[in-house]
Amino acid sequence: MQMIQNFINGSFSNAFDGETIEDINPATEQVIATIPRSKTEDVERAVSAAHSAQLTWSSLTMEQRADWLDRIADALEQKTEMIAHTESRDTGKPISLARRVDAARSVSNFRFFAAFGREQTPQTFQMDDAMNYVHRSPVGTVGLITPWNLPLYLLSWKVAPALLMGNTIVAKPSEVTPLTAHLLAQTLLELELPKGVFNLVHGLGPEVGQAILEHTGIKAISFTGGTDTGRIVARTAAPLFKKLSLELGGKNATVVFQDANMETAIDGAVRAAFTNSGQVCLCGSRIFIEESIAEQFTQKFVEKVNSIQIGDPMDEDTEMGTVISSEHLEKVESYIELAQQEGGVILTGGTRAMTGYAGPNGTGAFLRPTVVANLPYNARCASEEIFGPMVTLHTFTSESEVLEMVNSSEYGLAGSVWTADTIRGRRFASQIDSGIVWVNTWLHRDLRTPFGGVKNSGVGREGGQWSLDFFSELTNICVKTNDGI
Ligand code: NAD
Repeated sequence: MQMIQNFINGSFSNAFDGETIEDINPATEQVIATIPRSKTEDVERAVSAAHSAQLTWSSLTMEQRADWLDRIADALEQKTEMIAHTESRDTGKPISLARRVDAARSVSNFRFFAAFGREQTPQTFQMDDAMNYVHRSPVGTVGLITPWNLPLYLLSWKVAPALLMGNTIVAKPSEVTPLTAHLLAQTLLELELPKGVFNLVHGLGPEVGQAILEHTGIKAISFTGGTDTGRIVARTAAPLFKKLSLELGGKNATVVFQDANMETAIDGAVRAAFTNSGQVCLCGSRIFIEESIAEQFTQKFVEKVNSIQIGDPMDEDTEMGTVISSEHLEKVESYIELAQQEGGVILTGGTRAMTGYAGPNGTGAFLRPTVVANLPYNARCASEEIFGPMVTLHTFTSESEVLEMVNSSEYGLAGSVWTADTIRGRRFASQIDSGIVWVNTWLHRDLRTPFGGVKNSGVGREGGQWSLDFFSELTNICVKTNDGI
């Protein structure tokens, strides 16, 4: 069992009061680590270390900081297998997925922002009698708070641009999946990143997370997590005038028109529904099918879902592992029960998976991918974020009808549209209230593009230039050049 410690001012230490929390592998239900249950005092130490490091770090050039990001990417790439195994044990996701997505993307996040930083050119605006120079400076010490579904992937998505722009960091990973954040801290120690530039405090959201939000020495909060937590973040940080980026929950739609390529649409809809056990904020959990193809689509969709191989996350052939915890399993199960009360028909799934693999207690948080039909589009199960391997199917007869159903959601993060007519696809996509819409694909990411949600899915955008803007302050310096006026 690992004994994880905080990483403050370049060294590892326990929480000031020595309290700890257990970290559980959801596939075996064994305790695999303990982490510090940090509090305000630990955040105080982390902020103080970050402040001491601020001048040194921000004095480096963008090029020098980009070199640091490349060094971090190289070091993480060397640890690909370690990251994938650690993430798989901590989350219950298949090792192949952890390797392909979590480990690979954590490396590419650092590499992308290194290259992107080097491409930046100074912005100037010439007037007849003056020149405007847009000067960027770091925000200062920033707080990064991340969820459990893509632990290192989402943390590195924030750490890389924050470091690039010259900020120092106090980060808090999810208490449910702390291991790869620790691995990142170990890597930064090995690389001898200047002390205090990156600080990691572990613990519970309402304790250490809240202390980060409240600390007046932290000038910006980049938060990814649930919408309810996002409300607390906004309520706490906004009156302190911190910069805020909120990447929150979703209830994303997959819209399949009758002219879509059936095989491609089914593959895409299944992937969108069940990747990472449906625990990706971008997952398409409401599937709208044009009525004329609904029967054929549904039959083939269910066949494909039934072919998903559930099992030991460490098995290379496993396509779906567990959900994040036994508590979360119970939450998803409560929605399966609710779906039936709401009049839904379970076409497949709905029960715990008998995988032939189970932890020492004969259990593990395995749930069969679940497909529910016959629910009104505004039923609770079709409206609330479940964040598990459960989707609802709905039919429509016209574009205007499906648009109304899609946009009835309180969320607006992502969506996908499947049609042979890409002009219609683009037009329809532009009418969906959403930060990201894919046409004939899903989770196809170019890191230069804006990422974020509308409505209850968040405020602000990350990605490419938007991340650089968030992690910097702009000053316009106007220099008069013509003495005559
Ligand atoms: P969560 O909101 O419970 O927790 C997220 C983080 O916030 C954790 O580190 C947690 O400890 C911390 N936290 C909790 N209470 C806090 C408080 N009072 N103050 C400060 N921090 C606090 O979310 P989760 O269950 O870890 O993750 C799942 C959610 O994240 C889903 O809703 C999912 O849609 C969302 N998510 C969104 C995106 C996106 O980009 N929009 C990406 C991934 C996940």
